[in-house]
Amino acid sequence: MTPTPDFATVTDRYWLTHIRIPLGCLDPSISWTLPIPDLAAPPWREELVAAHLAIEKGMIVDLIPAHHSPPMDAPTWDLRQGLVWPCFVDSHTHLDKTHIWPRQANPDGTFASALAMVRQDYTHWTAADLRPRMDFALRCSYAHGTQALRTHLDSLGPQGPTSWAVWNDLRQLWSDRLTLQAVALVGIEVYGTPEAADLADLVAHYGGILGGAIHNQPRMQEWIEAAFRLAQDRGLNLDFHVDESLDPAEDGLRWVAEAKLKYDFQGQVTCGHACSLSVQTEEQVQTTLDLVKQADIAVVSLPMCNAYLQDRQTGRMPRYRGVTLLPELAQAGIPVALASDNCRDPFFPYGDHDMLEVFSQGVRLGQLDAPFGQWPQAVTTTPARLLGLPQGGHLGVGQSADLVLFQARTLNELLARPQGDRIVLRQGAVIDGTLPDYRDLDGVVSQR
Ligand SMILES: [Zn+2]
Repeated sequence: MTPTPDFATVTDRYWLTHIRIPLGCLDPSISWTLPIPDLAAPPWREELVAAHLAIEKGMIVDLIPAHHSPPMDAPTWDLRQGLVWPCFVDSHTHLDKTHIWPRQANPDGTFASALAMVRQDYTHWTAADLRPRMDFALRCSYAHGTQALRTHLDSLGPQGPTSWAVWNDLRQLWSDRLTLQAVALVGIEVYGTPEAADLADLVAHYGGILGGAIHNQPRMQEWIEAAFRLAQDRGLNLDFHVDESLDPAEDGLRWVAEAKLKYDFQGQVTCGHACSLSVQTEEQVQTTLDLVKQADIAVVSLPMCNAYLQDRQTGRMPRYRGVTLLPELAQAGIPVALASDNCRDPFFPYGDHDMLEVFSQGVRLGQLDAPFGQWPQAVTTTPARLLGLPQGGHLGVGQSADLVLFQARTLNELLARPQGDRIVLRQGAVIDGTLPDYRDLDGVVSQR
């Protein structure tokens, strides 16, 4: 990466010159949005806009096409065609499970074992255990250039109040660097019990989001509707795990859409996973997509976790990768985000809360590159909208200069290397991008 000039460590006025921005990440109000012709044409098919950008007191105050010369009114930092993205938004994580892998590995890599191992680990989940693991994950996320993150929290029984209190402390501690949101995660059958109302009250108390994991069961529809009623009464949004399996009979996504329409639910509804769509008939898929579009539901895909867990049988090559129908959802006009999901736990042993890795893996697994089109939005503007962020994950004048600067000049260069030398600006100032040392966790999760 080009050396960081001194003036970029403070928030005075300066120019970032000769930069490239993914077209989909540019504020829609900007009129000169012609992508660089040579790159936009086949075979590259990358839509990048060449620009210069001025930052003053932490805000983007000017954005001009690269063929104009920037006024000589401030120091310049020439990025030599390097890409500039808005800071990422990670719309689906599990901060309560993260980094337990050293003490609770998944013995055979299956979904069933992941569930069993996490349940076995619950006995450790005190505030003293949760807090350093969650904080470690947030340090990774921040260093990689994320500005906002939504986590699901296993909330069954007494675990709920413990995890939510720890998360709330961290939300306050990190509030000047990361916007944090949390979703209550329980099996959908909990909505058939009196405990559900207490759960909804807990979520309302913390300003959270109600949710649950939906798998086909005889009373599934009834329980989904109960969740909608509890959310409606308290003005909460909903975020479900749906159909995280390759059983084509799993149709929770469809029933969530039906329930939203039935209750004329005005809150926001997000569904994660939707793996079973990838093995259903065209007719089944079309019915569900029509309902999801009509109900205005967003889908979050978790490609790394799906590829690890789905269609796993020891000694047999997986035939299906479990990633939902990304192009079909996008073509149907349904908002689609890509997100981290689990990180170093029995559901997914790898990952570093790096949204560039998520984007890169999503592109490779989903073949989202011919053309890349609007897919950069799936880790920036789309999840920003889902999280209701005023900044919107766009680059535009009047917005906070929360940017990720890359040495890479094209999406090809970006995805070919891990980009460990990226530079993150928050409010115009370069942050310390040092990643936390795994040794920091040695006292929390014993290292084997
Ligand atoms: Zn999840």
